[in-house]
Parts: sequence; structure tokens; C-alpha cells
Amino acid sequence: MAYDQNNIFAKILRKEAPCFPVYEDDMTLAFMDVMPQAEGHTLVIPKFPAENLFDLDPEYAGAMAKTTKKIAAAVKEAFAAPGILIAQLNGAAAGQTVFHIHTHIIPRSQGIDLKLHARELADFEELKRHAERIRKALG
Ligand code: 5GP
Repeated sequence: MAYDQNNIFAKILRKEAPCFPVYEDDMTLAFMDVMPQAEGHTLVIPKFPAENLFDLDPEYAGAMAKTTKKIAAAVKEAFAAPGILIAQLNGAAAGQTVFHIHTHIIPRSQGIDLKLHARELADFEELKRHAERIRKALG
């Protein structure tokens, strides 16, 4: 399947759609997931038009891993999370719903179940506060 330039993350990268950003550099952008599976659920995307890992330029794969590590540490601190789940889905069969590659960074605590994937829209004021918390942890 050809990369769809009108997918929502492509629009966020072109600033045609809003997001709650936490970090940006030349090759990547990190922002809050609007339907979080746990408080602090953050996404990292490369500034490269790839649907999945197989289409991604290796340099951008490296940049994405680097940003994911950096943001995961900040999310862990900001939400005092004992665990962090990192996920990256490739293809509809794997559960992918937005076809611009991204990593999910999701705080986990024992005994607290994850909410359903891409199901319930969060309160935008709360997402804004969460993004601020993560930016603060980034220093
Ligand atoms: P996937 O299923 O492709 O691995 O994950 C896509 C993620 O994008 C889901 O967790 C979903 O909640 C999130 N998402 C879908 N639409 C939007 C949007 O417009 N903005 C943001 N920030 N996240 C979105």
C-alpha cells in the first residue's frame, strides 16, 4: 500500500492538525495520544513518510529509537511509573490503525489494566497538563 499523505500523523507533521507536543527535533516529533490507554500515553513519530518499520529509512529508525528512549525516561519520571510499555505495530493485522509509523510509550503499574486501544477520547485540558509534565521532566 502506498503511503497516504493525508493520514492524521502526516497532517500533524505539516501542522494541518493540532497535537499536544512534548518534544521535537530535526528527525522526530513526540506528542500525547488523544485516546490514551493510560495517563501519559505518548507517541513518537519520524519526520519521514513511512507506514511501518519495513518502509522506514534506517537513519530515521535510529532517530526514532533515540527519541523513544529519551521520552520514555521523561514519561516514567513525570508519571512516577514503575513500568513503561513500548509498542510499535506494523500492519492492520498487528492492530495498526494510523499508517504513519509510531512508537507508543505507555506507563504501567501493577494491578492497573490498560484501557482499550484507540477507543476513548481524553479531556484535552488534561492532555495539555500531561504534555507540560513530560516537558518539565525533559528539563
Ligand atoms: P496504532 O493503532 O496505529 O498503533 O496507534 C494509533 C494511535 O494513534 C492510537 O493509540 C490512537 O489513539 C492515536 N490517535 C488516533 N488519532 C489521533 C489523533 O488525531 N491525534 C493523536 N494525538 N493521536 C491519535
